[in-house]
Amino acid sequence: MDRVMTTIRNPPPPPPTSAPTTTKPSGLAGALTATPSDTAAKPNTTASEFLNAKDRPLSLSGAFRGVKLNGNPDLPAGTVSEMFKAIDAGKMQADTAKKAPPFDAAAFLGKLSKLPAKEAQNAVYGLSEPERTALVKAVASGKTSPSAEVVHALIKSSPSADIAKVLQGIPDATLKSVSKLVKADGPMPTVGVGVAVELAARTQWGKSHKAEVADLRKRSTDFTKLTNGETGGLGSYRDGKIKYADKLLTNPEALAAVLGHEVTHAHQGVDCCADGKGPSGPEGEIQANVVTAQIWAEIGDPATSPDPSFNGYAEAWTKAGGAKGNGAAAVRERALTKYLENANEKIAERKKNPDSASKNADDSLESWQATAKVFQDALDKAKAGKGTRKLSEVEVKKK
Ligand SMILES: [Zn+2]
Repeated sequence: MDRVMTTIRNPPPPPPTSAPTTTKPSGLAGALTATPSDTAAKPNTTASEFLNAKDRPLSLSGAFRGVKLNGNPDLPAGTVSEMFKAIDAGKMQADTAKKAPPFDAAAFLGKLSKLPAKEAQNAVYGLSEPERTALVKAVASGKTSPSAEVVHALIKSSPSADIAKVLQGIPDATLKSVSKLVKADGPMPTVGVGVAVELAARTQWGKSHKAEVADLRKRSTDFTKLTNGETGGLGSYRDGKIKYADKLLTNPEALAAVLGHEVTHAHQGVDCCADGKGPSGPEGEIQANVVTAQIWAEIGDPATSPDPSFNGYAEAWTKAGGAKGNGAAAVRERALTKYLENANEKIAERKKNPDSASKNADDSLESWQATAKVFQDALDKAKAGKGTRKLSEVEVKKK
């Protein structure tokens, strides 16, 4: 069963500093004009009032912060989701763009580079919405070289579509550093997914699977196509929707490997995943696990693996020579061995206790025996062809 999605797209971005509410942070954004004068006097000002304040419309994060400074530590959930909806619809930007003050993004970045990381982040959080939009455009151009901290603050105060643009405009090394900051941060879906998708895009897999990467980028801005929650594992593809486990939000490399796996199912056009027994079948799972292996072998840290199987697949892939060698064949054998072990465990369980099966016909002793035979046959064939089988030979039957 999938958990029903909450109405909040993101937890509200935390205030950039833990400054006491009586101290207004300073920095390039100035003495928190992040509290517009016409709203500052009112206690309990809502975030959307800050966003649309007449004298200084704020970026999302700045608005959250303004609300907090205004003595409203807990944002009402309804306000937050309304704001995200409006921002996604482009309404907030349209409203605030009219009031855009002159802003030189390149000069702003130049000044930030001379500030301590915290202060630079603070300045980004204090930007008005038009300024934030201008900064996104500048970083997206690829002609600037902002620090990872500045990029991190910018993506935390931006909607998904802007996150993708920003991350595509930064060098590999900066993206890696941003990923580290995300790991140390609280979970935030738009940021975690944004970073994971761009990490995946820059792997060998991503470079040779442009359609899948484009699909992931598109999905990253649409919670009806890609979301977090209960998956029964680390990820799933069902009814057109990719889901990933919450715990991957602070592990962008692992999320990249899972998203690569699930988008492969999306392109197979078959639901997954039940270790070779679901609709995707062993061949569909093997193909997806080859992607997991490939991405994790390239960017994953074995010490932070979300599941021991990731390291196992990646090791098999690398030892067999990866894409140029017989990596796919090695992953195939490993996967089939794992599926067979699982099926044999179920068989033993059913024999010991016939009542252990769920009412689902697929969970009966007979069903598992038939499945084990399929896995065993495939494994025998894989072993016989060891050393010759290539990825192209892994076929998926669409249903
Ligand atoms: Zn799968």
